[in-house]
Amino acid sequence: MRRGSTRTAGKKASRTTAAKLAALGLHREFDLVLHLPLRYEDETRITPIAEAAPGEPVQVEGTVKSTKIVYRPKRQLLSHITDATGDLVLRFFNFYPSQAKALAPGATVRAFGEARFGGEMAHPRFRVLHGETPLPSALTPVYPTTAGLSQSDLRRRIEKALSRVPLDDTLPADLTARLGLCGFREAVETLHHPRPGVDPVSFRHGSLPAWRRMKFDELLAQQLSMREHYRERKSRAAPVLMPKGTHTSKLVAGLPFRLTVAQQRAWQEIEGDLAQPHPMHRLLQGDVGSGKTVVAVLAALRAVENGMQAAVMAPTEILAEQHFRKFSEWLSSLGVEIAWLSGSQTKKEREAGSAAIASGKAKLAVGTHALFQERVAFRSLGLVIVDEQHRFGVAQRLALRTKGDDLHQLMMSATPIPRTLSMSYFADLDVSVIDELPPGRTPVITKLFTDLRRAEVVKRVHDACVAGGQAYWVCPLIEESEQLQLQTALDTHAALSAELPDLRVGLIHGRLKGAEKARAMAEFKAGKIQLLVGTTVIEVGVDVPNASLMVIEHAERFGLAQLHQLRGRVGRGAAESVCVLLYQNPLGEAARRRMNIIRENTDGFAIAREDLRLRGPGEYLGARQSGAPLLRFADLEEDVDLLEEARAAAEVLLRAHPDLAQRHLERWLGGRAQFLGA
Ligand code: ADP
Ligand code: MG
Repeated sequence: MRRGSTRTAGKKASRTTAAKLAALGLHREFDLVLHLPLRYEDETRITPIAEAAPGEPVQVEGTVKSTKIVYRPKRQLLSHITDATGDLVLRFFNFYPSQAKALAPGATVRAFGEARFGGEMAHPRFRVLHGETPLPSALTPVYPTTAGLSQSDLRRRIEKALSRVPLDDTLPADLTARLGLCGFREAVETLHHPRPGVDPVSFRHGSLPAWRRMKFDELLAQQLSMREHYRERKSRAAPVLMPKGTHTSKLVAGLPFRLTVAQQRAWQEIEGDLAQPHPMHRLLQGDVGSGKTVVAVLAALRAVENGMQAAVMAPTEILAEQHFRKFSEWLSSLGVEIAWLSGSQTKKEREAGSAAIASGKAKLAVGTHALFQERVAFRSLGLVIVDEQHRFGVAQRLALRTKGDDLHQLMMSATPIPRTLSMSYFADLDVSVIDELPPGRTPVITKLFTDLRRAEVVKRVHDACVAGGQAYWVCPLIEESEQLQLQTALDTHAALSAELPDLRVGLIHGRLKGAEKARAMAEFKAGKIQLLVGTTVIEVGVDVPNASLMVIEHAERFGLAQLHQLRGRVGRGAAESVCVLLYQNPLGEAARRRMNIIRENTDGFAIAREDLRLRGPGEYLGARQSGAPLLRFADLEEDVDLLEEARAAAEVLLRAHPDLAQRHLERWLGGRAQFLGA
């Protein structure tokens, strides 16, 4: 919008309007063009009062017979109007005196609203006509708006933008023809002003040509943005990490197992990237237990072989600690020093760690995201490894992305990204997939029990532990209160300890100090604890192969990804493992679906697909509150064909029509950041 207009509205007022527009994502004139109606109202025709069906929005026109303010049961304005076919009462609870005055007997009034039984219309929009007033020729758009910004104001602004902004096409004609898409101008004009006669409800449907065009353009913008980001990264410089020395080959030779073919392939891809003079941003995907850690260790060693350092970050202390121990175990024989940084260390320990990192004595640093936040100074950082990448918040991911832009980054995730998401939001990353589990694993068997059969489950736990196995018992997730969740863990621990006096029962939860948590984990790992009762802190990454039974209490409260992760804590050794989902009846529809999905699927990809279907991408990406632009019009599930087309078109456009590509991006994203990615 043009600045410096000489309207008399004070500066303050215009600022607040700008803020309201901004809240709707409307910053530039073009944003107004892309602000599409939620629905439409048909003001192109007048419905005779006698035909106004209850529940349907209609427009009527009549003469005011009488208007009065009544005070019982509540102050309200009632205006009786009549046309050739019948009578109608307009009822208003909030009204201005001027409105009461305008509805004087004899006035002609045109009202739009929903008729109700009993011949009335509550809160209609109305106007009093003076002389001939033609009906509009198009449906009236109803836009998404925000408090304090009226439809009419928003409409006016959008009208103005539509008349001022050039609506030329950013797609070459042969492309629109081939894809059977309508022109951009036609799409915009149709959606803002559908011709009369179309059914306003069906018009909202996404398969209309105009909608398809908008969806396609949006997906194309996303593709272009991702590609641009990708290309830009490949043009930046990063240290070349070549195969040198013997660290990596020694590690592989010393492993108690052979790398799976999938692990080898992933490592080759990473190795290839690291040898490039550009930053690697690679996502290593592999289901729970597929063996991502050893691949990460190899990558870290490659940095070390080249005289550089690597940082390993995990989303929780438990996991970071576990990596620290695992890395130490594997690397001690190679003489590679590792620093461990955690929030629960003493100041002195932390300082010692930081000093070793700063001097370059420590080649590897392992910790939580505190590693980055507190600006630990590295001597020569060459590679950042982020484990369970999806568990970091969006803000942390974005921060890392910016701070670590010029670094090689290896992101690992056990939450498989469905194909539609990897083609869209994650399209700027390179991806390696570990698609096989190490040999000798037997799939975990999942069983559902109502909590009425809890005693049976307790007996199972007992028998498994007595036979030399180990078990986890996960307590309910209580979203409203961490305190309550903690309490249930304490109670459950007490109850199970009493019920199973011959077992050694341990406890782990988020409120324990880092050292206490580490002790509990270490004792479980060493077999000193047979049954570990815990909150969801054990969800991520914990690796104790001897544990073969997992009980999840109130499983109906967990999400699919979480259940899959939790279940992945067992089935890591040769013994057959069982996951028991204890649930409480009655099960809601969504919970029943989740439980069945988890029982019937062990493949993380299948589960992730279902999860995406149930929750939608915004929720799935954890981007709800991030403010990062998500797709507004296109639906990844429904419009997967358009997504494929947009991907191909982005390539063509960048190659053959870079000017159009630029213009398209400018229109859809303007000055805003790129589409949110991984
Ligand atoms: P995740 O991919 O879930 O992080 P981990 O890296 O923790 O999996 O590996 C799970 C377990 O499998 C670990 O105990 C690890 O030592 C073991 N492992 C990894 N690769 C292999 C392999 N190729 N053969 C046998 N066991 C392996
Ligand atoms: Mg892991």
